[in-house]
Amino acid sequence: MNNVKDQHKKRQTQTFSQIKFEQFWPILDRETLAWIEIKQDPHYALLSHAQIKRYVLESIQYGEAIAKQHTSKTQLKTLLNLLLQQGVQIKFIDLTHEKNEVRARYIRKPATIEIFRSSLIQIEQFFNKMGYHLSIEDLILLHVYHEWFHHLEETVIERTDETLPRILVKQTGPFKRYQTIAKTREIAAHTFTQHLLHISWSPLLIDQLLLLSEKNITKPQIREKFQELKQQAKTIFKEQ
Ligand SMILES: [Zn+2]
Repeated sequence: MNNVKDQHKKRQTQTFSQIKFEQFWPILDRETLAWIEIKQDPHYALLSHAQIKRYVLESIQYGEAIAKQHTSKTQLKTLLNLLLQQGVQIKFIDLTHEKNEVRARYIRKPATIEIFRSSLIQIEQFFNKMGYHLSIEDLILLHVYHEWFHHLEETVIERTDETLPRILVKQTGPFKRYQTIAKTREIAAHTFTQHLLHISWSPLLIDQLLLLSEKNITKPQIREKFQELKQQAKTIFKEQ
């Protein structure tokens, strides 16, 4: 009789690049997903359409450019060794973050990447439902690449938000206060991850689909919602 371990061994695993999202779900393009991300920035309302377009597109370009400087470390072991050399600790956290959507995080001092086990499980189950079985190494890579980008931002490269002009957020009398658009860092980190994993879809798509399917919204409703979002994004990106 086969024990569970044997069955597990026999099961074929797929890589992220083999996943055909469009066969199971309505999908969103990278620009629309990036726009959904920047919309959550606390200073979004202060941005003009032209600025939104610029900040989204330049963050995508930045993430891509940095990814091109790094050969893809497809073996998790190779990447973890590299991170150790760079002085980064990796920790797995058992508790679910109070904000469910937090998958992992980067802590500057001491340089640490924390990965929430609940996120690994959530993503594994999401793909299982589509009939895909991913290796734990790939699931970890998805998280580590993103946080590694933040580590690079803090240590080697310029922070994404600092590559773009600051926004005037407050003016009291002669005093002006300018701030960066923090969400641009997320857009770049997701692009970096997408590039290194060799996937055609943005990792942000997983979050959008999980968010909507957990609200018990049906696939046709999701399709409709995505159409609306695409249209809205298009009007912004179309502008000069
Ligand atoms: Zn991030």
